[in-house]
Amino acid sequence: MLRNEPLEAWDRDHFFHPSTAMGAHARGETPHRIIETGSGVYIKDADGKESLDGFAGLYCVNVGYGRTEIAEAIAEQAHKLAYYHAYVGHASEPAIRLSHMIAERAPEGLNHVYYGLSGSDANETNIKLVWYVNNVLGRPEKKKIISRWRGYHGSGVMTGSLTGLALFHNKFDLPRAPIVHTEAPYYFRRENPDQTPEQFAQHCADKLEELILAEGPDTVAAFIGEPVLGTGGIVPPPAGYWEKIQAVLKKYDVMLIADEVVTGFGRLGSMFGSAHYGMDPDLVTIAKGLTSAYAPLSGTIVHDRVWKVLEKGSDELGPIGHGWTYSAHPICAAAGVANLELIDRLGLVDNAGKVGAYFNKAMQDALADHPNVGEVRGEGLMAAVEFVEDKADRKFFDPSKKIGPTLSAAALERGLITRAMPQGDILGFAPPLCLTEAEADKIVGIVKDAVVSVL
Ligand code: PLP
Repeated sequence: MLRNEPLEAWDRDHFFHPSTAMGAHARGETPHRIIETGSGVYIKDADGKESLDGFAGLYCVNVGYGRTEIAEAIAEQAHKLAYYHAYVGHASEPAIRLSHMIAERAPEGLNHVYYGLSGSDANETNIKLVWYVNNVLGRPEKKKIISRWRGYHGSGVMTGSLTGLALFHNKFDLPRAPIVHTEAPYYFRRENPDQTPEQFAQHCADKLEELILAEGPDTVAAFIGEPVLGTGGIVPPPAGYWEKIQAVLKKYDVMLIADEVVTGFGRLGSMFGSAHYGMDPDLVTIAKGLTSAYAPLSGTIVHDRVWKVLEKGSDELGPIGHGWTYSAHPICAAAGVANLELIDRLGLVDNAGKVGAYFNKAMQDALADHPNVGEVRGEGLMAAVEFVEDKADRKFFDPSKKIGPTLSAAALERGLITRAMPQGDILGFAPPLCLTEAEADKIVGIVKDAVVSVL
């Protein structure tokens, strides 16, 4: 690339960036940073500045940057066959291999994979499958989907509605029905400070049951949740939460969709978050860690009990009218196969558990006593530090102070990428699963330094 090309001007004039304040970007008030290379947990920009990526891109580059094994698998497949569709029974070899590998790794009964390209389209697929299944089962009224406030499930029309964060609803007029939201399992922000985690988990399950009864159990089809809330603040559930939620879902015959876009393939130190928390989902959403973002690929893993209904439906009605041109794209599937092989060979799931525990403890030790740190929380290699103005009553800072983005910028100046989560003063961490203890120490050291400099 020629260095004298006006790339910054072209970027600001023509590139409509996702999740970006575009006026500010066009006026040059937001960073213009071209990321050129990556290796391990580090990325380097066009000015040669290196940063430790404490968020693995968007919690997706799970195997770390610069993995030649995946690059070579992509190149080999591109040379052999870049594309053929997967309609009416066609397949590429890597797509078949990958489906088998996913079924081998997924919890019991989850054996059939439908592919898309993003977590959002996979969740759109989930909604359609839930509706289709209930139509085939002869219960056309049972269509509502319950999601949680602070859940993140995508930016499509229906998936944007599932997402329970104001930023993703603002001015888009997303359809409300048939989506309803229930309480988030956010213990730190509970209304009743006297509740234990177990009591709060029961409170969340009671709220869910109240909502199902208010809506009418015959109208509620499914519940969707991330095993650990991600974009909503990186919030692991209180002990017993999933067990109690599932008891309610089973009582009213409501399907469970586990959105494992972030937690799938090792981030919590288990291959799947569902296994980690003893969940028994009907459908599982996968994306990010499936290819470690070396190529875009997502999927819906369908449980045998749902599959049976889909088979019945297509026996009666013909082909299921749902498909993307790029479903099971051969190049992306080849990336997925190489990525899952690498995760196994490097023992990255175990590493995420071990280094994750080390990292979470180090962050606790370094920051929990700070007067503006409300909570340090995490599970595996997902962690967050939540900041408060007043520790005793968990009081929020005035939003105009922009504490999260200011802290994140201070960390970046010191060579660390963190994510200021979109709602609340929360710094999020989700580094690549190959993180070492020394790199974990470096993250914690920089964060502490940044906190001391800002607060
Ligand atoms: N579900 C979860 C839990 C996510 O975190 C995300 C993205 O961050 C999505 C779905 C949407 O995925 P995508 O951005 O690939 O559409």
